[in-house]
Amino acid sequence: MATPHWLFGDQLGPHFLAAGEGGPEHGAPVVMIEARSVFRRRRFHRAKAHLVLSAMRHRAAELGDRVRYVQAETYREGLRKTVGDGPLTVHHPTSRAALRLVSALPGVTVLPARGFLVPHGDFGAWADGHGGQRLLQEDFYRWVRRGHGILMDGDAPAGGRWNHDHDNREPPPKGARTLGVPAPYRPRESEVDEEVRHDLDRWEREEGIRFVGRDGPRLFPATRREALAALHRFVERRLTGFGPYEDAVLAADPVMSHSLLSSSLNLGLLDPLECVAAAESAWRAGAAPVNSVEGFVRQIAGWREYVWQLYWYFGEDYRGRNALGHHAPLPEWFLELDADAVTAHCLATTLAQVRDTGWTHHIPRLMLLGSHALQRGWDPAAVTDWFHRCFVDGYDWVMLPNVVGMSQYADGGRMTTKPYTSGGAYVHRMSDLCGPCAYRPTDRVGDRACPFTAGYWAFLHRHRARLSGNPRMARAVQGLDRLSDLDEVLRTESRRGDGPP
Ligand code: FAD
Repeated sequence: MATPHWLFGDQLGPHFLAAGEGGPEHGAPVVMIEARSVFRRRRFHRAKAHLVLSAMRHRAAELGDRVRYVQAETYREGLRKTVGDGPLTVHHPTSRAALRLVSALPGVTVLPARGFLVPHGDFGAWADGHGGQRLLQEDFYRWVRRGHGILMDGDAPAGGRWNHDHDNREPPPKGARTLGVPAPYRPRESEVDEEVRHDLDRWEREEGIRFVGRDGPRLFPATRREALAALHRFVERRLTGFGPYEDAVLAADPVMSHSLLSSSLNLGLLDPLECVAAAESAWRAGAAPVNSVEGFVRQIAGWREYVWQLYWYFGEDYRGRNALGHHAPLPEWFLELDADAVTAHCLATTLAQVRDTGWTHHIPRLMLLGSHALQRGWDPAAVTDWFHRCFVDGYDWVMLPNVVGMSQYADGGRMTTKPYTSGGAYVHRMSDLCGPCAYRPTDRVGDRACPFTAGYWAFLHRHRARLSGNPRMARAVQGLDRLSDLDEVLRTESRRGDGPP
């Protein structure tokens, strides 16, 4: 009999069962384990727990007699119930903890990772080739495009340029409440979802397992078929507008032209190469402009891939980095996703989106939630844990570089060249969130001082010594000297304490 193969809950697409080099044996029986301890250890968003369980159970139903699907307290218990100490193959898991577990188990062969473009060894060689110099995402992205022939014409970038960011930083169209693009794909629930919801209710009631957020109708794909439908709908009907308004935010249109594919990619339902290939085909067929297609390709072949590689490359202690010495605890209203307790319209709107859907696009994550945490000096490990638990697409590998590095600058600049934070003027320019707000983006002192504007200056002041040595921040730091009311700004900021802004 072929050696059984273990599928983790984020290895659900057909490419994780493709036999052949680096894959499981042909026709290998499959083991899947639903470990309850995962939900006891952390308080996840309920919509996320629902999505992951629904996706695993749908996959098991598809595999039929080929799979042994067990519910157990831990993975070890699940293995005891299925294969005992017998031999087993598994693809390289996506977290360090899971890799430690499978590596320590007798009889387990760890196969190469799937669901990403670049093997770890190739990335290591590329990174080491930089001779200790700072790694740049842009260099990596071009290297991936060349290596995989993505959006290339021979040796040259197709469409004439590697980077179309210049065309992709538009504020939202003036006066528009929505972008007016066709709605994204949304799945229809099945009886599996009903069963999952029933189980989650029971776990809450009888086992004291706690969740956060609302578990409304499932919004994200749980099967390969649904994920492909979402990809095709995005490419055919929504990709065209992706580029220009990538960074813009509209309160009444949280999704805009974003693809909503992150949870499907991270569950392993889609492979990154098929996503970028579909977008490239749309451009070659004249159905989507190059700036939108390049912008989307950059997100997947550039950012997603880079983040995955850095998770492994930066090493175990990256998780604990806290270069800015931030130790404040996350306040209750943030932990509880209590949007109604928040006065600042931008934060209230974003927190409500997280509460209701477990998703926002990248600018609310970076420039609202993350930026606020950074300005308030919240503990980066706790911020990372919050993002991991509260977002449907959150996993350890994607959280560490994105939150510790990009959003909280806790790595002191290994991931990004500067901290990503701003005053209210940026929020005002890139969104329609400031209009109805009780605060004014231009005010840095007084009752109507915008928490982001006061917070920005207070942040620069607190870290002046470190940031003035950073060429990308030096001018901003010099701006502090032109503030005649800096003392008042700092008093305004400190008066806020930890209460909701
Ligand atoms: P689109 O805007 O349509 O982008 C297309 C795809 O690109 C995404 O589906 C995603 O797979 C990929 N992508 C783009 N940027 C990144 C990135 N920085 N890291 C990884 N993938 C990227 N992404 C996650 O998948 N999981 C997370 O938990 C997550 N947490 C984040 C936390 C912070 C603080 C920040 C700043 C970003 C985070 N991101 C995360 C990246 C990005 O915000 C989401 O991938 C994106 O918003 C998902 O929505 P979408 O599928 O519509 O993306």
